[in-house]
Amino acid sequence: LIPERGVSYYGVYDPVAAFRDFEKMKDDGLNAVLVAVSEFDYWFWKGAIGDVLAEAKRSGLSTYLDLWGWGKVFGGEPGSLFVQNNPGDLQVSSSGSSIPAACVNSGFRTFALEKLEAICREFPFDGLFLDEPHYNFDREAWGCYCERCRALFKETNGEELTGEITDKFLDWRENSMLRFLSDLVGVAKAQGKDVTICMLPFEGERRRLAGAPGWEQISLLEADVMATDPYWIAFGEPMEPFVVRHTRRVLETCASTGTRSQIWVQLFNVPAGREGEVAEGISLVEKIECEGKKVDSVFGWPYAAGRGSVLASDDPELVWKRFISALAP
Ligand SMILES: [Zn+2]
Repeated sequence: LIPERGVSYYGVYDPVAAFRDFEKMKDDGLNAVLVAVSEFDYWFWKGAIGDVLAEAKRSGLSTYLDLWGWGKVFGGEPGSLFVQNNPGDLQVSSSGSSIPAACVNSGFRTFALEKLEAICREFPFDGLFLDEPHYNFDREAWGCYCERCRALFKETNGEELTGEITDKFLDWRENSMLRFLSDLVGVAKAQGKDVTICMLPFEGERRRLAGAPGWEQISLLEADVMATDPYWIAFGEPMEPFVVRHTRRVLETCASTGTRSQIWVQLFNVPAGREGEVAEGISLVEKIECEGKKVDSVFGWPYAAGRGSVLASDDPELVWKRFISALAP
């Protein structure tokens, strides 16, 4: 049995309804939940979210909180109020157009750190989840070439930032992201929260264009759990090599840092007829061993296989059944 078995959860602001769902998760053999909180959720449903998190704790589940889609720097479907309200703090492309995502060297940095500090202080939960930190990776418009970034680049490298994609620029950009993540980790740790960092399963040029730091750099942060989400269906990859390669990378990193490992399994948009792959993927993840380390935690995204949402699998009930019977036979 994989020690930690969980699922992401969102969109429910009624603590009574949430408690029923948490009890159902426990009956299904899960012992952890990740509550995904968008900027809008935090602003609009603040009181209710505190109560929902308290119910998750009360039900005995390990409880994590995800800054879902914040600034569009973190992964997820929700829009960002910060992006909507702060046009001067957005990423800027090399041609000068603004990109609908916050620049990590802008006011977003202070915004995110202050909100996180309040979230950690006010809400009951065990760990913070930093999901898929990335820059916009649309090849037509990618940054960041805003005035702040230009000035910082010049200060660090002693030369002007050109519009070209150089290794120096890509390294500098990853370092900017790393500093931002390091500050967030520091805030959460100071408040006694565990931290999980989940990196996109990108490699080589794709990772560089997404501005996502590599595992060597991520391993320097004082996180407690290293995670990745090799969603083979969403990324159109063959399951076995994709899942094995990315799980091994996480395990290698954890072996060197002594951190725990977490792998995410896709429960969203699973096409009819492919439900069995959910169980196959989990059994694959369970078997992988690297330097004596095995995966400590498996999570599925999202609860009830996205039933009723844009992420709904064709047969959400069947996907959920495959998921729980593979995790907690
Ligand atoms: Zn910038």
